[in-house]
Amino acid sequence: VDPASEQRRRVLRAIGERLLQARRVVLVTHVNADGDGIGSQAAVAAWLEGRGIETNVVNPTRVPDSLRFLLHRPDLVFDGSPEDAAALIRSADLVLVLDTSEPKRVGALATALDAGRTLVIDHHPPGPEVVGDLALQDTSAAAAGELVYDLIALFEDEIPSPSALGIYVALVSDTGSFRFSNTTPRVHQIAAELLAGGIDPELVFQRLFAILPRRRLELLREALSALDHDPDHGITWIVVPREVVSRLELTSEDFEGLVDHARSLEGTRVAILFRETADGGTKVSLRSSGEADVNRVARRFGGGGHPRAAGADLPAAAGVAVEQVVAGVRAELARGR
Ligand code: AMP
Ligand code: MN
Ligand code: MN
Repeated sequence: VDPASEQRRRVLRAIGERLLQARRVVLVTHVNADGDGIGSQAAVAAWLEGRGIETNVVNPTRVPDSLRFLLHRPDLVFDGSPEDAAALIRSADLVLVLDTSEPKRVGALATALDAGRTLVIDHHPPGPEVVGDLALQDTSAAAAGELVYDLIALFEDEIPSPSALGIYVALVSDTGSFRFSNTTPRVHQIAAELLAGGIDPELVFQRLFAILPRRRLELLREALSALDHDPDHGITWIVVPREVVSRLELTSEDFEGLVDHARSLEGTRVAILFRETADGGTKVSLRSSGEADVNRVARRFGGGGHPRAAGADLPAAAGVAVEQVVAGVRAELARGR
């Protein structure tokens, strides 16, 4: 594998040395964790536990059942109350935050993090605030999992096999199965090394994409029947109202990848998913073909992400959210030309 940049290795060496001196480490990722967040946590957990360091996974929202197979020991996941989560964080020697650096992305856990004991490994464009004193924020990485690979590779000759699985899933998740523009030659080199070490790509495909609960196909039916399109600007969107979320008993993980159906419509430059939440607000997911910077749009609504994939939580019902966000995307597209 091509060496990582000197800057990346320098920060990762400092982070790794701190981690290896700890006795108890807590790993945190962002709300509604995805395959990159959980895969990165699983990979670091397996590495540290192999080194005799007690490790727990403590997240602001529940670890999706569909990703629990990544953990080499399922009981590493803390599933208790937010108060107990904060206590666990406060009693750890160190906290490592993965796949985000922003306090608002770790929800109720933000107040329990004290910067001096908090390290960060992230690949998002930096926001206004960082949760830790020692942070790697490297937007040239395809996934936090790529940085975790580099971290472990600095200290081990071979990536331990439960870590390899987590890293592989992180790469698959954030590159859209090696299809998005962040799929660099280096991503393929890392994946090749992981496959040579015994990762079964078909098994990962089965666990992540091939076997779905019935409610997900019913959600897809609802989503496609609600597909909306602005042909003049190349904007395509889907609205999933509260009624559908509660009737089908949907959870956040059920929406993974749904916005890509909107993106697949011919002529689409920006695709948007609007999902009404139990608190009366709307969760928005934005995807861009590259012409518009959707991170800029999301930030205007208090959210964030990457230039081609971003999100925001609006305190409004879908009707209002659609009006405001679609207008914001039109303005961003106009700016880009
Ligand atoms: P999603 O649309 O939820 O799949 O998220 C796409 C990207 O945007 C990911 O990198 C997320 O971390 C980021 N993102 C999603 N929602 C938010 C939010 N409310 N605030 C900041 N970043 C977000
Ligand atoms: Mn993520
Ligand atoms: Mn990521």
